Amino acid sequence: MDFVHQGRVVDYSLYWYRLPDIPDFLVCTKCHANEIESTQLASQFEKIKRLDNESSSCSFWRPRVKEIMWPQAVRTGNMDAMRLFMKKRGSVKPCKGANPTAATEGITWYGMSNSEIDGFATCEACYEDRIVGTPFESKFSPHRQQPANETWSCDVALLYISRAVVKMAQQNDWAGFVAGATRRLSLPKCEGREVRPNSCTWYTPRGKIDNMQACEACYMDRVALTRFEREFGVYEMKTDFDSWMQSLGQYWTCKLHETNLPLVWAMENAIEQRDWCVFSSSAEVACRLPPCTANGIIRGNWWTIQGGCDNFDICETCYTSILRTSGVGHFFEPAKRNLEATLICDFCVSSPRFKQYIRMYAKSVDQGVFSYYLDYVRTFASVPVCPVLKTVEKTHWWGYPGALFCHDCYLSFVINTKLGSSVPIKEGFDERPQICQIWSSRMRTMWLQACDAGAPGSPESDAKVNEFTEFANERLKIYTQTIPQMDFIRGMKQIKMQAAMNQGLVSVMYQGMDSLLSISGATDGNLHGNSQLGWHDTTQGVQSAQAYQNMQAGFANANRADEWMQLFQLEQIWKQVE
Ligand SMILES: [Zn+2]
Ligand SMILES: [Zn+2]
Ligand SMILES: [Zn+2]
Ligand SMILES: [Zn+2]
Ligand SMILES: [Zn+2]
Repeated sequence: MDFVHQGRVVDYSLYWYRLPDIPDFLVCTKCHANEIESTQLASQFEKIKRLDNESSSCSFWRPRVKEIMWPQAVRTGNMDAMRLFMKKRGSVKPCKGANPTAATEGITWYGMSNSEIDGFATCEACYEDRIVGTPFESKFSPHRQQPANETWSCDVALLYISRAVVKMAQQNDWAGFVAGATRRLSLPKCEGREVRPNSCTWYTPRGKIDNMQACEACYMDRVALTRFEREFGVYEMKTDFDSWMQSLGQYWTCKLHETNLPLVWAMENAIEQRDWCVFSSSAEVACRLPPCTANGIIRGNWWTIQGGCDNFDICETCYTSILRTSGVGHFFEPAKRNLEATLICDFCVSSPRFKQYIRMYAKSVDQGVFSYYLDYVRTFASVPVCPVLKTVEKTHWWGYPGALFCHDCYLSFVINTKLGSSVPIKEGFDERPQICQIWSSRMRTMWLQACDAGAPGSPESDAKVNEFTEFANERLKIYTQTIPQMDFIRGMKQIKMQAAMNQGLVSVMYQGMDSLLSISGATDGNLHGNSQLGWHDTTQGVQSAQAYQNMQAGFANANRADEWMQLFQLEQIWKQVE
């Protein structure tokens, strides 16, 4: 998986290349090695190191630079045109993706001059990076002004279209692009959920892999116009009666939806390594096993980091599709786990430490030192995740009386600050329920201010630390007056909502029985009901109407304005100290 590209912003220390007079236009070491190093222009670039917390991203992979301007510069030995673009590109607003974007964002839009696709819009960044300088440039012109009350989205941000606009321009195939983009824009958004097999067009591998199917939208985004597009074909639904009957009870899920990390990852690695087997061998495993989700896996095969590590578990699907295909499989080993326990994989998007782990994984790969990741996992695997707004009892704390820090926050934040090693409570055990006081950005900022006040133990430092702990004590008081009560109101609302929802289900069920009985002529010929519920052919119809009314009343009750008001007020009080 290519971490530095696709516009990803990196906030940790890495080496980059750049032209000294255009400092913001960075080139990653990979692009430099592949495209620049061996040319006569290489001497114009300088190597720099960006520090932690400096946002950086590679600008060289943009198609306009990589495919058009750079080859031209190398051919002519002249970088003037490219320099001009590099300078100008810095002031263009970044693409907001396919998300609806308000006019206040100030994006400049381009559209199709002849409106081949009505309403098609590309943001200026995508237009500059992917369209200008190609045969398609003349097909686009500035869009009409975005009205203040409309939200627009960038169509070129859709993966298929971003690829198609570049590839088809190379073949000067405008009609092909218009047809493909029209098709892609007509497809419903894939939600990655279980759906009836006949709800969309599916693509399946030509070499059969059981249970492997992708919806048309995801096929177009991830496979079409890549070297593997011919490995898939449209799935032909059998239309005979038996197959139709059989399909009635079936549900399919799209295996290339963005949340199915293992197979999306395997596909990218396969494309990068130009090897279909990388994907097919992963898909065979992933589509045979239960999916890696927040529900966890029981009786699975597990892997962990080399040398063993409790509480760090990688499921078979993630091991084969992610780690093995990325060439880091040998840093992991099979792990013995309790077969009857339900475990959640640490590569699952909804596992508690997913974000931290994946960030560290990317960092280690980018920096080329995989042990950073392994050390990080070893440190944090056994540490419970910060409880944030929840209380925890019978556990260890760091910090000051009334200003306690959980183990997680201590290790990931406090320990690296100036006062980190001089806190009076270290691994202090407390029976009572307590809260962590250092996860919010307000508290962290206050703590850093205390750290910067003076040498540890000096009067200035002590004064600031006192201020910090006093505030924390106050925060604790307000916590007890707000959060538990808010949880209670929310809980009650949920119960009411659930009850109303059940009434809704009952209503639908009776309605079904009512229409079934009516259609089959199994009614008794009398009308049932009363003036409030209306008159129905069957008593089931009456019950349906009653349940429907109950549902509406239930939702109204669950949505009572005074309770929302109370929640809102409590939240306002808490937010003042959060
Ligand atoms: Zn790059
Ligand atoms: Zn865009
Ligand atoms: Zn899909
Ligand atoms: Zn997994
Ligand atoms: Zn914490």
